[in-house]
Amino acid sequence: MPSRIYHYHMKPSIMQDGALYRKAGGAYILILELQRSIELQAGSLGLFHLKKGYYLYIGSAKRGLPGRVERHKRLARLKRGPTRWHIDSFLKNPHVVLKKALTLPNASECGTSKVIAQRAGSEVPVPGFGASDCRSGCPAHLYRVTADFQKNLLNILKNNNLG
Ligand SMILES: [Zn+2]
Repeated sequence: MPSRIYHYHMKPSIMQDGALYRKAGGAYILILELQRSIELQAGSLGLFHLKKGYYLYIGSAKRGLPGRVERHKRLARLKRGPTRWHIDSFLKNPHVVLKKALTLPNASECGTSKVIAQRAGSEVPVPGFGASDCRSGCPAHLYRVTADFQKNLLNILKNNNLG
C-alpha cells in the first residue's frame, strides 16, 4: 500500500498519529478576504450584497477534517468545482481569497460560531448562511469582521479555550 511505503521510515507512533489526524473530525475556520463588493447568490437564501472586507466561515466535519479543509482550499484556488454548501459559491467567486484555514479539532462548530457572533467587530451579512443544519440558534456560520478582529482571531480563540 502506498501509505505504508510513504511512512516506512517513521516511528510507528507517528504513523498512527498521522492516520488518526486524517480521520479525525472537528471544527474549522476559513479566514477569507473579499477584495471588492459583490452580489452573491447564496443558494435558496437569495441574492445578497456583500461588502469588501474580511470574512470568517465556521464549519465542521464529523470525520476527515483535513480533507474537508483541503476541498475548500482547492475550490478557492481553482474557482471551479461542484457547489454543495453555501460557502462553495463564495469560495468560487473570483474576488474571494482564502487567506488561511484553522483547524480546531477540539472545538464545536456552533460554540466557535457563537464566540464570534457575540464579539464586537463581527456582523452577519447573510442570515442563515452555512447554518442549514444548525440546531444551536446561530445567526449564521459566516461573519464579516473588522481587520482588527481578523488580526486578533488567534487570541480570541485562545481566550475562549477554542484554539
Ligand atoms: Zn450553529
